[in-house]
Amino acid sequence: MRDIQELSREYSVNAEWGTGGDFPRFLAHVCGKTVLLLCDPNTRPLAEPIVKALRGEGCKVDELVYPEREPVADERTVGIAIERAKGSEYLLAVGAGTLNDIAKYAGHCTNTPSGIYATAPSMDGFTSGVTPLIIGGAKVTKQAQTASDVLMDAEVLSSSPKIMRGAGVGDILAKYCCLADWRISARLTGESYHPQAAALMEEAVKRCEASVPALAAGKKEGVAPLMDALLVSGYAMVMAGNSRPASGAEHHMSHYLETDFLRRGLPIPLHGIKVGLGTLVSLYLYHSLRHRFTFPDCETVYEEAEKLPSVEDTEKKLLSLGCPVRFSSIGVGKDTVRRMLFEAYLIRDRFTILTLFCKYGFMDKIADEIVERFS
Ligand SMILES: [Zn+2]
Repeated sequence: MRDIQELSREYSVNAEWGTGGDFPRFLAHVCGKTVLLLCDPNTRPLAEPIVKALRGEGCKVDELVYPEREPVADERTVGIAIERAKGSEYLLAVGAGTLNDIAKYAGHCTNTPSGIYATAPSMDGFTSGVTPLIIGGAKVTKQAQTASDVLMDAEVLSSSPKIMRGAGVGDILAKYCCLADWRISARLTGESYHPQAAALMEEAVKRCEASVPALAAGKKEGVAPLMDALLVSGYAMVMAGNSRPASGAEHHMSHYLETDFLRRGLPIPLHGIKVGLGTLVSLYLYHSLRHRFTFPDCETVYEEAEKLPSVEDTEKKLLSLGCPVRFSSIGVGKDTVRRMLFEAYLIRDRFTILTLFCKYGFMDKIADEIVERFS
């Protein structure tokens, strides 16, 4: 496994571990600058050591504390951040997915560098250069900037809510299916494939998978392999030139459900939770192929399926981290699950296991079984 610090430097990211606000490389970057902190009421208490350290370096610390406990990255929250960013020289999000997304986008719009003091290892967007936003009630992906600094404190990350650690693991275990989708597309449609990006991702996933018991127990040693995999996911996408190493059918299913939650005006469950559920469906589809469905070149796809973890083992891992393994647990009914099976592959023109099942008419034969198994 490549050294993540070194790999991060190649992508101009300072991935720095520290304790109690002690992050020498980051503090040297921002010394004497005006730093805008972006927090919510859950994360503000965790920011205290970093605020102290910044003041110790002569920084002027401004604070933007969103009043809602779970802010959403939309026109309003992003608009406030852009306005406040204008008087700042650096934006530091204290949180995970949403606050990082807001900081990356506001930084991009105002030409201000940004970073994240990670309070939970819950998603793989730390090092991605795009950001998902809710605009006009719909999810859109906008160009943003990569975080210049990712600050990690094992004590803070291992004490994050278990479900957030579980969401991060869900987003990482999904990569087995992303990589399988990518390889079957390369074989069946001739799509280009990047072996180095795939190998880098796979190795990080395996190390993270081995750390699941430690993560479930809230042990400090569990968080480094998970954070490494979350960071590597961003780098593998840059290396491949697209999101293939980190997004396949399970992400299309998650996106489909997200749109449904938005349409119903309901809060959206964590990204990694929905992705984890999608991963179970993808694994089930892969493992159902042999002995039941034949098609041109099916042997290559059977071989791909053989290498994947089992549905049961993945379910156990997700459950150990408090993640739901049934769609009903996140308020998604059987009808929506059924529609998702037939429609999610249309979200984007990317060949996945869902495309294969829908294209060859296999989904008609298996949809009832999946709806029953995972609802
Ligand atoms: Zn993801």
